[in-house]
Amino acid sequence: MSQIVENRINEIYEQVVRRNPGEAEFHQAVKEVIETLGVVLARHPEYLDQKLIERICEPERQIIFRVPWVDDAGEIHINRGFRVQFSSALGPYKGGLRFHPSVYLGIIKFLGFEQIFKNALTGMPIGGAKGGSDFDPKGKSDNEIMRFCQSFMTELHRHLGEYIDVPAGDIGVGGREIGYLFGQYKRLTNRYEAGVLTGKGMSYGGSLVRREATGYGLAFFMKEMLATRGQDFAGKRCLVSGSGNVAIYAIEKVHELGGKVIACSDSNGVIYDENGINIETVKRLKEVERRRISDYKEFHPNADYRANGNIWEIPCDVALPCATQNELNEASAIKLLNNGCMAVAEGANMPTTPAAIKLFREAKILYGPGKATNAGGVATSALEMQQNACRDSWNFDFTETKLEGIMQGIHASCFETAAEYGFPGDYLIGANIAGFRKVADAMIPLGLI
Ligand code: NDP
Repeated sequence: MSQIVENRINEIYEQVVRRNPGEAEFHQAVKEVIETLGVVLARHPEYLDQKLIERICEPERQIIFRVPWVDDAGEIHINRGFRVQFSSALGPYKGGLRFHPSVYLGIIKFLGFEQIFKNALTGMPIGGAKGGSDFDPKGKSDNEIMRFCQSFMTELHRHLGEYIDVPAGDIGVGGREIGYLFGQYKRLTNRYEAGVLTGKGMSYGGSLVRREATGYGLAFFMKEMLATRGQDFAGKRCLVSGSGNVAIYAIEKVHELGGKVIACSDSNGVIYDENGINIETVKRLKEVERRRISDYKEFHPNADYRANGNIWEIPCDVALPCATQNELNEASAIKLLNNGCMAVAEGANMPTTPAAIKLFREAKILYGPGKATNAGGVATSALEMQQNACRDSWNFDFTETKLEGIMQGIHASCFETAAEYGFPGDYLIGANIAGFRKVADAMIPLGLI
């Protein structure tokens, strides 16, 4: 990388930090992308002249709003709602909503920024956005969740539309929440606009495979990564952190592909089952009864529960972080490498800290960044939009085959781009450059947007 390009990248990063104070996760996400773009900028100086990185780092629109709601005891609560519409160069804004007490602008911006490149990698016509609230759904009754969702949508609806902005779920926002949000959107607009939200239930315009898509897609991507080293899942010991939507369906597909997931977790602890995690038990606990993963032992007494444990200390071949950002740090990466882990792919967004990523890349194990490996969810959301647009509904096998084809395509695009720019096997560089180029090449002909 020439000194001029390196200086420009440093200046851009410093400007992002200055203009977005206190948003550590957003700074981290920007840095992780732009520091890999030197080679592409050296080859395409027009991207620098057009100030494309500076433009992409500045959201097109940021919406912050009050969400008042009343709990079952009649007490009033005030939460804060966010929607950051980052980029619409490739299509309507698209990205999930997160309800979690840790949510603030910096988290929504890091997620929205990642979403731009992820959505570009799918090859589908979707821009990038993210939203959410610092509302904590844990321990709330169904009625409280409904009232919160209705209040949230009462403000957000004026910024949405199937050709404008199409949210979906993320942490704390699953099928139940999407249902309440869609119901309120329909009341407020008097439009049955199915394509305005994805992750909908099957009784009102959802798509088969959407629920499974992120986890399944992650397993499909890992299958492709392993194949580049002449390997497959057969007999591989795998760790999957989390036990939410992404984790559950990653475990299910890894088992189908011949791997054995021996541990998963939630924010209280880790469950380790040498016989292989029983996915039906996890689904019952998490999807139906909304209980803690510690209760797994009730059904499988031989499993080991480690309160506040670190899942990455368990020896494995394959690690799939599927819980939350920065959950896999440098110390955990050292443990994984010392225990012989040969592949890591991210189900969550930015779950691996920069220091841990550095170790994986230096060790030359397979490392798949989330913007590529977890793109199956948003890709299937785009398939849901397609079905809604043509008033159609596809069967499970057809949709799953499409998902697998999309994941193979993303893998090929990252793998080939990395090789083209002189970094064979480096999926981080491949994903960042391939995603960035798709967005940049769409922006230039649109004029100064
Ligand atoms: P869920 O809310 O369904 O599950 C999240 C899981 O992660 C839960 O088991 C939760 O445990 C655990 N978790 C959350 N926060 C923490 C924390 N601070 N420490 C430890 N564990 C934690 O969310 P999803 O499965 O939908 O999302 C998981 C990740 O995947 C997120 O990073 C999300 O952005 C990303 N993602 C999701 C997609 C989707 O389609 N759903 C698409 C692409 C990416 P607990 O219940 O105890 O909080």
